[in-house]
Amino acid sequence: MTRLRLATVRPEEPEIFHSLQGEGISLGRPSVFVRLSGCNLACQWCDTPYTWYFSGHNGLHRGGQTYDRRENAVTLDVTDVARRIAAFDCRHIVFTGGEPLLQQPALAALCDILGPDYHIEIESNGTVALTPGFAPHVDQLNLSPKLRHSGNEDRARLNDSALRLFAADPRAWFKFVIAAPEDAEEVVQLASRYALPADRILLMPEGTSASVLRERSGWLAALCQSHGWRFTDRLHIHLHGDTRGT
Ligand code: SF4
Repeated sequence: MTRLRLATVRPEEPEIFHSLQGEGISLGRPSVFVRLSGCNLACQWCDTPYTWYFSGHNGLHRGGQTYDRRENAVTLDVTDVARRIAAFDCRHIVFTGGEPLLQQPALAALCDILGPDYHIEIESNGTVALTPGFAPHVDQLNLSPKLRHSGNEDRARLNDSALRLFAADPRAWFKFVIAAPEDAEEVVQLASRYALPADRILLMPEGTSASVLRERSGWLAALCQSHGWRFTDRLHIHLHGDTRGT
């Protein structure tokens, strides 16, 4: 029996849903989202703190609220997860979190059950390298290395060896969350340090309301243009607001 730890939309109900990809290079693409619980980082502006900011956590999240682990996580056998995914008429899957790459053996077992017809997209913070057992299942990596404003220590948020491997992997895209114009200088430094191809770098405004995203998009678009990077919005926030299961 191989089990996955998933986030919930409400107690006992795993966060598996069909929607449009809201961010990154696949923005707008209909996808089945599978949100995993647990993260190895603690970003102060994280928009899914219910996947990791459980009661007793030492980190600081700006929301100030911690979450009950039993109400916000559920563990299911991968056969059950595969059955729930197959119920949607959609062959594009996004594994998101939390940090999905913390559960690669179970994800590999799940992909084995699903078979080769599914396109597998991963959203990750870029701190965990792919394992040999899971890597062949992955079609696309949406990596979001964290900048200083995330509040994580440097040694936690930047895994040199993993980022160098990802930089050389044509499946990997690098999406940086930007809160202020000066954050772009950090992206310049990281791109140089890890040899990230400019064509696979995207900047995305930090924000969980449409008004904040709009305000930041103006100067962010100009920054992307001047550096030769791509811009990505957060479509799901415009469509649904900051809600679970969307
Ligand atoms: S890495 Fe992602 S899921 Fe983890 S705390 Fe940061 S924003 Fe949240």
